[in-house]
Amino acid sequence: MTTLNPSGWCYCGCGSEIAPGAFFRQGHDKKADADLNAIHHGDTVAQRIVDRGYGPGGVNLHERAIELGVRERCGIDDCNVSGVPGSYGMRRHRASHQHGSASSGRASD
Ligand SMILES: [Zn+2]
Ligand SMILES: [Zn+2]
Repeated sequence: MTTLNPSGWCYCGCGSEIAPGAFFRQGHDKKADADLNAIHHGDTVAQRIVDRGYGPGGVNLHERAIELGVRERCGIDDCNVSGVPGSYGMRRHRASHQHGSASSGRASD
C-alpha cells in the first residue's frame, strides 16, 4: 500500500475543498466506498467479499482480519465477536458481558 497524502480536496472526486489533513468532506468517505462497491462489486458487500477471495469456500474474512491484527477477538467465554483493536467499541462490548444474559451463571470477576 502506498502512503496517502491529503491533497486539500475531497478524495471522493466531488471537487470540494476541505480542511488540511483531511481526506474527505464529512460523509464522503461513505459515498466513495459505495461508489467503489457499485463499480467493482455489483453494489453488494457479499459480492465484494467473494471477489476478494473470502466468504463460503474461500478464506474466512473474520478470522483473517484477526490473524492480521487489524481486528481483535473478544475472547471472553469463547465469544467470537471482533472489533477494532483497543477501541471504545470493543471495551464497551466486553463490558456488556458483565451484565449480559450469560446462561452459565458464573459471577463476573
Ligand atoms: Zn467528496
Ligand atoms: Zn464478547
